Amino acid sequence: MPGAEGTRLERWALYPPVFVLALVLSIAQPYPELSLWGVLPVMLVAAAFPLGVALAYGVAGMPRAGGPIGLMVGLAVIYSEIEPIAFALVLASSVVLSAWAKWRAVKVPWAGQLTRAANLGSMALLAFGLVQWGARGFSVPPEWDAGPVPSLGSSGPTPPIYHLLLDGYGDPDWLTAELGCSTTLTRDLEERGFAVPAGATANYPQTLQSVTSVLAMALFDPDAAPTSRATYRAAIANSRVEAALVGRGYHVEQLLSEYSSLRLGTSDVRQVRPYVDFFAYALLPRSVFGSISKLNTGEPSRPLHALHRRQLRWTFRHAADPLSQPATFRFVHVLAPHPPFVIAADGSARVDRSSASIEDGSDWAHKHDGSVEGYADGYCEKLQWLDSELTDLVDRIVADHPDAVIVVQGDHGPGDEVDWAATELEEYHGRFGALVAVRGPDAVRAELYDGMTLVNLYPAVFRGLFGADVPALPDRSFWASWDEPEKLLEVTSELTRTLPSGGPESGGIDR
Ligand SMILES: [Zn+2]
Repeated sequence: MPGAEGTRLERWALYPPVFVLALVLSIAQPYPELSLWGVLPVMLVAAAFPLGVALAYGVAGMPRAGGPIGLMVGLAVIYSEIEPIAFALVLASSVVLSAWAKWRAVKVPWAGQLTRAANLGSMALLAFGLVQWGARGFSVPPEWDAGPVPSLGSSGPTPPIYHLLLDGYGDPDWLTAELGCSTTLTRDLEERGFAVPAGATANYPQTLQSVTSVLAMALFDPDAAPTSRATYRAAIANSRVEAALVGRGYHVEQLLSEYSSLRLGTSDVRQVRPYVDFFAYALLPRSVFGSISKLNTGEPSRPLHALHRRQLRWTFRHAADPLSQPATFRFVHVLAPHPPFVIAADGSARVDRSSASIEDGSDWAHKHDGSVEGYADGYCEKLQWLDSELTDLVDRIVADHPDAVIVVQGDHGPGDEVDWAATELEEYHGRFGALVAVRGPDAVRAELYDGMTLVNLYPAVFRGLFGADVPALPDRSFWASWDEPEKLLEVTSELTRTLPSGGPESGGIDR
């Protein structure tokens, strides 16, 4: 019997599942906001198949020759974009070969030594990943101090404030003129009492940076911006906007998206169901489930895309639910019109045959054969659906709360011209344009101005609504690549040069 001699490490091909677990753990590393206990179930589900293969090869006494084939199967299970036919062939041939080898008692030279080396190597990789994860649990991200929390006073009305963060909603004028979207949102919102400044602009091109600066009401020092995304997440969880509102007696509620990095700190949370996080998005299409889905339907991410539509519909259905008290700050984040573009203008399912999840910019193109063809169509369709959901939501909110203050913002525009590796872009308007629309008392509307940047959104709302002393910040914008978010390249002059109204100093809104 080939398996009878040698130590356990030589006889049992443990490395396919161990290697797969190490690989899965490394995919999980960029999501430090998730706990290991949170990601373990997803990891085990995704790795269930290679774990089964391990039982066949190792524990059930399959010959050592099965090990290399088991590794191939393991890789096929976890490697993205694998062709399901190739996957099935590898699987079937490995089973046949192993059974044959066992039946013929085939002896592979050096098999024991190779198996032991592979076992030890894979275990070292897994241990390294676990130590890395554990070390992070004890590390505290460097703090970023946005300044003291402003006082919002104590007298006067405290109407409900709805913050609708529409991820990736660019400047409507630019989207119409340059991307070819047909949107009437500006007019629809103006008819509903919103002020919609023209040429509103993001300060940063990435969600985490942009939202951090909005909620912190602060810009990063271009020479000392936070280097760690954990710092941005912590700043969102400890933001000045939230702290100021809580100090004024507001109750905080949040309806979150799949992008799990955006969480406010206050605990009166309404979690979104059905909840799929960023990590599951990254992992499941690469697992055997992606292959099965692709084989069945031609779409590796079909179940996730269906969940994304459910999540969007759930959010719009519940964003106008009754408030537990009138003075509530309800923060709603929807991953729309941001990719994935899997919802048609009429709300029906839209097919995306790539394994794309929620990547944007050059990462989106990478998953679509290196091309942005189809980006504009997908974006504009999702935008049209979003427009009608949004106006419907606004009508429901206002019917219940005629005094509601509604802050609608995009955090950046579309990503079809964005190369995440670039130190600068050819064109900044698309990515930096951002929808801003605010419904509220005249004093709030008067604080908004054409060409304003997002960082001045809440200072304007707080001045207008509470008479608070929150000074405006300079309207500056900075490009940053994905890998070096702290390397900020100022692009303010690129953006103001071609503003429809001539510049950010054009004063109050008059349209
Ligand atoms: Zn975003």
